[in-house]
Amino acid sequence: MTSKLDKLRHLMMENSVDAVIVAEDRNRRYYSGYTGTDAYLLILADKSYLITDFRYVEQAKAQCPGYEVVEAYGKKAYEFIKQTCDKAGAKRVWFEDDTLTVKEYSEIKASLDPLELVPDTGRIAKPRILKTDDEVNNIRKAAQLADKGFSHILNFIRPGVTERDIALELEFFLRKNGSEGLAFPIIAASGPNGALPHAEPTDDKLAYGILLTLDFGCVINGYCSDMTRTVALGEPPEKLKVIYNIVLEAQEKALAFIKAGISGIEADKQAREHIIAHGYGDYFGHGLGHGVGLHIHEAPRLSPIGETILEPGMVVSVEPGIYLPGLGGVRIEDLVVITEDGYDNLVSSRKDLIIL
Ligand code: ZN
Ligand code: ZN
Repeated sequence: MTSKLDKLRHLMMENSVDAVIVAEDRNRRYYSGYTGTDAYLLILADKSYLITDFRYVEQAKAQCPGYEVVEAYGKKAYEFIKQTCDKAGAKRVWFEDDTLTVKEYSEIKASLDPLELVPDTGRIAKPRILKTDDEVNNIRKAAQLADKGFSHILNFIRPGVTERDIALELEFFLRKNGSEGLAFPIIAASGPNGALPHAEPTDDKLAYGILLTLDFGCVINGYCSDMTRTVALGEPPEKLKVIYNIVLEAQEKALAFIKAGISGIEADKQAREHIIAHGYGDYFGHGLGHGVGLHIHEAPRLSPIGETILEPGMVVSVEPGIYLPGLGGVRIEDLVVITEDGYDNLVSSRKDLIIL
């Protein structure tokens, strides 16, 4: 945990911030290891506190070496923050302006007065972009379990089952085999529903001659995975086979290009230009990929506005898609960790069109 806190303290110095209040679940877990809810971290230049109520005190003591655990809640918690900042001579205090509720902000502001509350503009979360080996291992395990889930669900897909049946069966398998939950609600989109990139599973029954898109991820020790495969049930219409191959080629082009030193914009361009060249540019309406970690969508972005340069330790999805309204859609998604000499693909499920 030390090196993560060191990075935060370095950011504090760079930004002339004397104290940080961390309330967002994933940031809190990242910096302390605490997995409960209802707690604040108070980070000062040389001391770290975890402030929570009676329910979590023992848990916090066990999970957060290096932190002084303080039992306080509500107004008492804010009073503790104020007194501790005063004692340390801290004047400028970062808070997470993305996620702190208006109510909490008002209460903290009133309690801390006259200290200066400074929005962190995402900087508290910034160190999370580069994963440690431990973090990568958790993501790898989550991706490997998802691969197993994909093999399992292939045996379950047949005419007459609904998208909801498939999503539930897959969720049961993943959780039964060790996933702490779902990285996000499973997408099981068949036929025309596949044209909605984030479709919710319906009671529509599968029939021959359709494509089915499955997008899902596991969670291991808090870390998410993310993968998508599109499979056919029976022989699909020719046009859908054509777009399947275009999406697969677009993904392969991007994968052949991705390495440390290129930007998210350049990575996105590789896949996008291939899709545009085949006349489907208007039907690929999202970015090529996103970072994955404690959160399913985090920095960096691979997209036309993803300026971040890829570095070893970043974990990103690579997921081009084509969506044809009324007909169906195709998306193929892998998850890669950038390494010194390229990347390591954490997803190993096959990508040629599986016709069930
Ligand atoms: Zn996904
Ligand atoms: Zn994704």
